[in-house]
Amino acid sequence: MKDTAKHQGLRNQLVQILAQKGIYDKNVLQAMSQIPRHLFLESGFEDFAYQDKAFPIGAGQTISQPYTVAFQTQLLQLKPDDKILEIGTGSGYQTAVLCKMGAKVFTIERQNELYRKTSVLLPKLGYRPRVMMFGDGYKGLPADAPFDGIIVTAGAPNIPQPLMAQLRIGGRLVIPVGEEKQIMTLLIRTSETHFEQHEFGDFRFVPMLEDKNK
Ligand code: SAH
Repeated sequence: MKDTAKHQGLRNQLVQILAQKGIYDKNVLQAMSQIPRHLFLESGFEDFAYQDKAFPIGAGQTISQPYTVAFQTQLLQLKPDDKILEIGTGSGYQTAVLCKMGAKVFTIERQNELYRKTSVLLPKLGYRPRVMMFGDGYKGLPADAPFDGIIVTAGAPNIPQPLMAQLRIGGRLVIPVGEEKQIMTLLIRTSETHFEQHEFGDFRFVPMLEDKNK
């Protein structure tokens, strides 16, 4: 499947919609205007790739809605070369946005089928995370910590302590917290022991599951 001028046109429209919905980070909008989201969807859904909606990606999971991807990425305030840990690789679209923005990306997925599919797709499209791991994101990646930013793309019943511990001082953790629906939460680590917490309204994610990566 190719990336055509028509796709580019649809992407430009999508990015305009995101800007109208309040996304102001030019770097996020620019990255999203360049990434062929239709190549991250299951076949049959490509035609809908540039609608601002979530879609199934197999294994009972969904690719996050573009607005949600933009919103979470904007909260990270990432700078080129930042080390970012992503929990929930899924389709790899969010991973690609982070790579495109120049981050060093470490990403974890607990569904083997998605992990395998996405570890082939991302390099094929030219996106090269530092680490793609099959495992349980509740534990984070202690060997590569500390991170400048951590982004969780599944709904977490609580904020996993290991993720807080793996944030550098000044680092930002963006995580949707809740069961039925989630409150987008930003934690900024202000010292060894202190975290500032901000909340940004309701979102809906598939659940973050623990210790079941079989
Ligand atoms: N960023 C992805 C979001 C996919 S949905 C995208 O836009 O495509 C959330 C993903 O989190 C799913 O793929 C799910 O399998 C994964 N996930 C859920 N719990 C997890 C855990 N404990 N560790 C790692 N990944 C997890």
